[in-house]
Amino acid sequence: MNGAPLDRAALWARIDATPEWDLVVVGGGATGCGLALDAAARGFSVALFEAEDFAKGTSSRATKLLHGGVRYLAQGDVGLVREALHERTAVLHNAPHVSHRLPFVMPGYRWWEGGFYGMGLKAYDLLAGARTLGATEFLSAARTRALAPNVKPEGLTGGVKYWDAQFDDARLAVLLARSAAAAGAVVLNHAPVTALIRDQGQVRGVVVAGRGVRARCVVNATGIWVDALRDMDRAPDAPAKTPIVAPSQGVHLVVDRGFWPGEHALLVPKTRDGRVLFAVPWLGKTILGTTDTPREAVALEPRPLRAEVDFILGEAARYLERAPRRADVRSVWVGMRPLVKPSAEDGADTKALSREHTVLVGRSGLVTVTGGKWTTYRAMAEDVLTRCMARGLLPPRPGGVTDALVLLGAAPGRSLGEPPGEHLYGTEAETLHALPGATRWLAVDAESGAGILSEAMVRFAVRHEFARCAEDVLARRSRLLFLDAAQAAAVAPAVAAIVAEETGRDPALEAFTALAAQYARLP
Ligand SMILES: Cc1cc2nc3c(=O)[nH]c(=O)nc-3n(C[C@H](O)[C@H](O)[C@H](O)COP(=O)(O)OP(=O)(O)OC[C@H]3O[C@@H](n4cnc5c(N)ncnc54)[C@H](O)[C@@H]3O)c2cc1C
Repeated sequence: MNGAPLDRAALWARIDATPEWDLVVVGGGATGCGLALDAAARGFSVALFEAEDFAKGTSSRATKLLHGGVRYLAQGDVGLVREALHERTAVLHNAPHVSHRLPFVMPGYRWWEGGFYGMGLKAYDLLAGARTLGATEFLSAARTRALAPNVKPEGLTGGVKYWDAQFDDARLAVLLARSAAAAGAVVLNHAPVTALIRDQGQVRGVVVAGRGVRARCVVNATGIWVDALRDMDRAPDAPAKTPIVAPSQGVHLVVDRGFWPGEHALLVPKTRDGRVLFAVPWLGKTILGTTDTPREAVALEPRPLRAEVDFILGEAARYLERAPRRADVRSVWVGMRPLVKPSAEDGADTKALSREHTVLVGRSGLVTVTGGKWTTYRAMAEDVLTRCMARGLLPPRPGGVTDALVLLGAAPGRSLGEPPGEHLYGTEAETLHALPGATRWLAVDAESGAGILSEAMVRFAVRHEFARCAEDVLARRSRLLFLDAAQAAAVAPAVAAIVAEETGRDPALEAFTALAAQYARLP
């Protein structure tokens, strides 16, 4: 894996040659990839199948924050915050090339705000203890303006500065998948599971790409799609299962750094609808978001609603002196989170329900995990494996193996506010450099002139990072689609030509061009 190019035929041959896996994971987002890594690191035999691409679902559409969840503190859920703060540290340690600590500024416009929120954040510091990333500070109005130059000065009474962290979500998912492979798992993207193998009411494996793959334990880690797989887990004449997921979507808008200059992120603690709003410097641009809008159905490429876009721009205009308008938006993307209501059919477990995520072990032995947040993927994996072992689906093996397990390429990184570059490859930058086209830039950052996507990066994506089409490269290895959809569309033909040369397959350029048009267009 490290250095040697991928050989998909050899991976399928390993699938076919294995009579029974300890664990088959269905779904290659944060949850599935994290689980595959933990199980492989414990010495279990593991196969992971992802229908589309690693992180194609919710896991590429996060706000990119590694956080303890200050709002859980407000709800008094100290345990959840403590766990997430521990996990924040683990990601910063294990994947330092794709994560970084990030200071936030919370501006105050009422005399009591600074003290009120500042005290909460001091408690956040206390909970972090030795894992703190920096002390919370109370700011004067002048200092707030100095750290956040575009914040509205009228009525500003002061502010609070605190620390959390940020990351590149899709690159982390791919690193988890590749690190799982390095630990012995077989991971495959573009490999949808279409049925479950059942034997006397028990799940014994999955059907993928027309072949049966048998396993002692099957985990359904398909995010907002868990109900589709749960529904495969029934006798042909049995009634359809009651869905447990109700989707809710969150929109992000990306604008130039000029709208939020400086190194700090902005947190608005209470928008007009009582939620939080972020402006986060990320890979040379600024992410604004997000919303929380219940939807009827799950979607692979959810669409933003006009009201959501208007809401984000309207809230931004309340806090930014020079506010972005619709024409300033470079990309709009939408993620769906699952709101989970477990049903009796799954044998609901109340302990699991008090967590942010849900783990259900069905009577058939199918294990379903959904919910939670990116930050806690590692703790979720431990939880799932504990449950599998408790139910006798896997033999007992001690946990804690991924707490300090560094991922491929781990090396001290830079601020993720800077445009993307070779630093995101860590120690693998050497392998990248040895590939053809290391200095041929296909895309440069308009503001700084820095090269952000090279021919070699495209080749690396195909040879080492499982990319199979133009979208895999431009959406999730490079993040250009999320940063500037028009620029992504403009370089897509050049990227597609390299992908076609590397894979000998159709790089699906037309499909990508249509997708980029969706990300570039506001409703
Ligand atoms: C708007 C928004 C912002 C967020 N921001 C943050 C944040 O800043 N920080 C944070 O910590 N968390 C954040 N989260 C939460 C975090 O993104 C999610 O908890 C996490 O990504 C969920 O990962 P998952 O693997 O469970 O689901 P997904 O990433 O959706 O993965 C499920 C995968 O299963 C695959 N799949 C489906 N069916 C099949 C099948 N039949 N066969 C094979 N594969 C299949 C899908 O293609 C998909 O890739 C945010 C969530 C949202 C919605």
